[in-house]
Amino acid sequence: MKAKKSLGQNFLVDIGVAHRIVDAMYPSHNDTVVEIGPGKGVLTKIIADKVKSLICIEMDDILSERLHSKFNSKPHVTVVNDDALNFNINQLIKPDTNYKLIGNLPYNVASPIIRRYITWNHKPNVIVAMLQKEVADLITAQPGKMGYLSVEFQTKCLIQKLFTVGPTVFSPKPKVNSTVISLKPHNELSTDQYPESDFLAMVRAGFSAPRKQIHNCFGNATDLSKVKIESALGTAGIDSKSRPQVLSIADWKKLYMIFYEMGVKF
Ligand code: SAM
Repeated sequence: MKAKKSLGQNFLVDIGVAHRIVDAMYPSHNDTVVEIGPGKGVLTKIIADKVKSLICIEMDDILSERLHSKFNSKPHVTVVNDDALNFNINQLIKPDTNYKLIGNLPYNVASPIIRRYITWNHKPNVIVAMLQKEVADLITAQPGKMGYLSVEFQTKCLIQKLFTVGPTVFSPKPKVNSTVISLKPHNELSTDQYPESDFLAMVRAGFSAPRKQIHNCFGNATDLSKVKIESALGTAGIDSKSRPQVLSIADWKKLYMIFYEMGVKF
């Protein structure tokens, strides 16, 4: 069977790397685990021996059928043939059950998949994900190199970069390196009493032209007056000539609260 590029099918062939990914979620015999994109089952096989219950969501019909047959004799492994961006895991996991999420994710939808689970009302306790190195770098970036995705994910989770591997551990080989990260979603809203959707809308406006100075980003993306923008940035202690990449999560939160107190909606 030819690997489908459209489904990001680069299968892991290095068993040592597969073990490192699984070990990163600290599997235990009491765990319920959801695996996204099990493919030919290289991670699945390792996880299945270590946990109480494993639910695998695979979009490819043929691979899903093969996994069904492969894990037929293991009743604690459930294979779902569906899109991880649509499937409702609450159909299979009770809302009060803790679970872990793992996946060597398809590159093209890695961020949307992570976003879906960290914003879900039934969040995993931990996510261990392998993704394109550049995306992992952005998600884990520190002030100076941050982007919208860094702020979005870091306000919702505690994130750790674990390790990076080259193309040779896959077949077919991708053109890029891959990095494994872990994310621990917080349960509380990132900005306390302030609505989160507005917070992200503000951050999006702040990154609307990342090469420009922050006051220009807000000037271009909103109808706020220059005076209001300068005043909010000044009160937050942010140099209005800074580029958005240099702001920390704490800066964005402070700025949001000040805009909020000023009655500004995004
Ligand atoms: N876990 C396997 C491994 O490590 O070898 C396969 C990883 S491969 C990078 C990504 C897998 O995700 C493929 O099997 C692909 O068919 C599946 N996939 C792609 N998009 C998906 C989606 N939206 N929902 C569920 N599975 C998806």
